[in-house]
Amino acid sequence: MNIEVRDITKNFHDFTALRGVSLQMASGDLTALLGPSGSGKTTLLRIIAGLETPDSGHVLFDGVETTERGLRERQVGFVFQHYALFRHMTTFENVAFGLRVRPREQRPTRKEIRDRVMKLLALVQLDKFADRYPSQLSGGQRQRVALARALAIEPNVLLLDEPFGALDAKVRKDLRRWLRRLHDEIHVTSVFVTHDQEEALELADKVVVMNEGKIEQIGASEEVYHQPATRFVYDFLGNVNLFHGRVQDGTAFIGGMAVDMPEAGHDGPAQAVAYIRPHLLDIAYHHNGESHFQARVTHINAAGPIVKVELETDVGDTVHVELSQQRYAELDLKKGAHVFVTPKDMKVFLIDYADYSI
Ligand code: ATP
Repeated sequence: MNIEVRDITKNFHDFTALRGVSLQMASGDLTALLGPSGSGKTTLLRIIAGLETPDSGHVLFDGVETTERGLRERQVGFVFQHYALFRHMTTFENVAFGLRVRPREQRPTRKEIRDRVMKLLALVQLDKFADRYPSQLSGGQRQRVALARALAIEPNVLLLDEPFGALDAKVRKDLRRWLRRLHDEIHVTSVFVTHDQEEALELADKVVVMNEGKIEQIGASEEVYHQPATRFVYDFLGNVNLFHGRVQDGTAFIGGMAVDMPEAGHDGPAQAVAYIRPHLLDIAYHHNGESHFQARVTHINAAGPIVKVELETDVGDTVHVELSQQRYAELDLKKGAHVFVTPKDMKVFLIDYADYSI
């Protein structure tokens, strides 16, 4: 089932939580709504679910207007951040609940319910725990029960609101890989909310980056990471070095570097800001003629698959560089060394002007 959200606006009293949001989610896709706290992700998810009504705009499931329909009518599976399991019911009963409360004529037989629940518990690898109560399960296991319960009604779409938010980092990582595999198996159109960029990039087919009630960018993980559309997306997705400068006559003067920027035209000077990811900076002892700036190594963290180097420029700015272990060994880099830093790629935004990349 595909989902279309068309020009949704939502106000809470005098506060606008969503401002004309439109997006499409293809059938079978796993989409992440990613953004900082208060950006409107949960409000959008709840509007898709039918738990919240927009002030204007439309939600369409497979092209059919559903804006006026409630959660049950839309046949949506919803997983909340805080398990929301029935404490007095066993794992089995929790998963069976959505089927048992159906009107008699739509209710599966006892045997059908039993078979479906046990199949789902096997899918979330909890069939051995069917008789346990929520208090006898770990956080990760409870969230898997919540997922099985959402899937029991055979939902058209599965919506998850920060599903791993209450879990510790290690369990979070395990569960998200596990959810990705599960999704590959069952292919139900799914949307999940997260403020964790790593989680969104790792898990989703498509990432929707939100900020202040608006969509900043929609794209595949690689796309939003490597080709951020706006300064906000650059900042929000991963570490980035930021340099202030100016652009004049087709040249950007950034952090002591002069870089050709013909797209900027020949208009008068404009304030600019450049974004460079740490892995797109290289370090050398001699400059090779390319644009560079000079800096001094202030800290090295070589514990991990990549080496994180912190430097200070001549004007006192801090710069972060990530090197492969191999490059680090080649350089034999030491704290205090004076080096040349060369950007392999950067994106320059003219402040208050259209965006340009070089
Ligand atoms: P978080 O990650 O913190 O959950 P979010 O991006 O999911 O944030 P929303 O929960 O959608 O953000 O909230 C968006 C804005 O709308 C917030 O500023 C919030 O305070 C406001 N808001 C949400 N629900 C209500 C409500 N029922 N009444 C008033 N304001 C609300």
